[in-house]
Amino acid sequence: MYRTHTCGELRLSDAGKKVTLSGWIQRSRDLGGMTFIDLRDRYGITQLVFNMEVNAALCEEARKLGREYVIQVKGQVAERENKNQKLPTGEIEIIVDELKVLNESKIPPFTIEDQTDGGEELRMKYRYLDLRRNPLRRNMELRHRMAFETRRYLDQQHFLEIETPYLIKSTPEGARDFVVPSRMNPGQFYALPQSPQTLKQILMVAGYDRYFQIVRCFRDEDLRADRQPEFTQIDCEMAFVEQEDILNTFEGLVRHLFREVKGLEFGEFPRMTWAEAMKYYGSDKPDIRFKMRFVELTSLVKGKGFKVFDDAELVVGINAKGCASYSRKEIDQLTDWVKRPQIGAAGLIYVKYNDDGSLKSSVDKFYSEEDLKLWANAFEAKPGDLMLILAGETHRARKALGELRLEMGNRLGLRNPEVYQPLWVVDFPLLEWDDETQRFYAMHHPFTSPKAEDIPMLDTRPAAVRANAYDLVINGVEIGGGSIRIHRKDLQNKMLRLLGFSDEEAQRQFGFLMGAFEFGAPPHGGIAFGFDRLCAIFGGSESIRDYIAFPKNNAGRDMMLDSPSEISREQLEELYLEIKKPKE
Ligand code: ASP
Repeated sequence: MYRTHTCGELRLSDAGKKVTLSGWIQRSRDLGGMTFIDLRDRYGITQLVFNMEVNAALCEEARKLGREYVIQVKGQVAERENKNQKLPTGEIEIIVDELKVLNESKIPPFTIEDQTDGGEELRMKYRYLDLRRNPLRRNMELRHRMAFETRRYLDQQHFLEIETPYLIKSTPEGARDFVVPSRMNPGQFYALPQSPQTLKQILMVAGYDRYFQIVRCFRDEDLRADRQPEFTQIDCEMAFVEQEDILNTFEGLVRHLFREVKGLEFGEFPRMTWAEAMKYYGSDKPDIRFKMRFVELTSLVKGKGFKVFDDAELVVGINAKGCASYSRKEIDQLTDWVKRPQIGAAGLIYVKYNDDGSLKSSVDKFYSEEDLKLWANAFEAKPGDLMLILAGETHRARKALGELRLEMGNRLGLRNPEVYQPLWVVDFPLLEWDDETQRFYAMHHPFTSPKAEDIPMLDTRPAAVRANAYDLVINGVEIGGGSIRIHRKDLQNKMLRLLGFSDEEAQRQFGFLMGAFEFGAPPHGGIAFGFDRLCAIFGGSESIRDYIAFPKNNAGRDMMLDSPSEISREQLEELYLEIKKPKE
């Protein structure tokens, strides 16, 4: 038997017991007469003692062991003289009388400590060492708990977990597909699912009215810091439901997770329409842990000779409470910040509401103190506040101000990761116009249903049609999204035509779904949550990689497997593939 106990288990009440432990050497301390070793496994750390006077040979042997050696020891549990209150096992130690080296270890390339000296790429290459560290172990435990509690809740709600295939058909659904060549069908390809969207809808046609799956999805997108080419979703679909049923069911899921995993209780989640989110926060995923809502000044500021405002479609600002004391330099910094290409504002206008009640702005040339008073009223500003104002085309000004709002939230310490504020954003537009390709794209996906009352506008003002679509946002991060689906063939056809599909193309790509819709498709809808991101949020972190056991780096590479990699000529031939390398 390798062990009678784990390294996190023994307590003072076990003193006197003969035990066997196995684990990794975290560190050892050689104090001349005594050698101490911290033995580690998943469950904790237990101190081992070797005494020169009691067993010199064994003590000598122990001194030779390096970090991360795997050993087995037998010995007796004893009360410690110097107790360590920080460790659950800190009141005891093991007086070792037998030692066996189960395996040696090279010196690890970085320290296996909570704060490690290893850079991210190095830690990814040696992921098995990184995963030994407490922070990652805790993340994996959290992830397990989240998946387990998700299954428990959905099972109680009579959902069935049904697997859908990973080798499916390439259909454009926003991102680029990863494709897999078929050896048995020369020149033909499977695609890896971007999501099981159409399959889960077909399960509804099949009568499985509550489906879920914790499922891997694949999107061949240009990677951003918090994206992975493969990621996990909690994917769900229900039949005979309206938007309200979906929101209630899945608000229940998120509440259940907060309760079971974090011990936090939530009331009803607030809801906001997409139009309000854009107007007041400049984002479809507002962080409402803090207010700082937008105030529109457009009608107040026109006609005083200030060209920037006179020419602007929208003049809009925020009130940074208590920031009137910002120095010239700090305001210049903020101005540079909003002018960066990522934010894209042309400039920043400010009004300081000084403590003595006077108002000072960067546009004093054009506006009197009386004018500024009116603005301050609109902002509900008080002495000590700083109003920050942007102007320009509506969408761009809102987006830029949304970024500035988050930045001010950060600077003012209003975005504590331990505070959670969920929010439903509802009534997304159905379509999004793309200037470059001169066509509409589905904002969510082509299967999303328009709001019944907006259907007549599909022919006249498609851009104004709202969808039965919703997102769950927590702390400014989109955690999940879904919609009520189109379940009638005629409407689905119409939608595909609006999206620029010819009838043949629609048939070729979605014929299977349209076919299914001819055999009694029930009204249905669903949602999917980004599971990696949900775990990261629950863990109080921004990085989803820390919550994935084997993530890929920014370039989409698996540093440990060294993948992607080339394949042999034989493999290529078998697949009828020929590689033309891009010219250097
Ligand atoms: N399939 C959608 C997605 O992956 C979610 C849904 O509509 O249920 O974003």
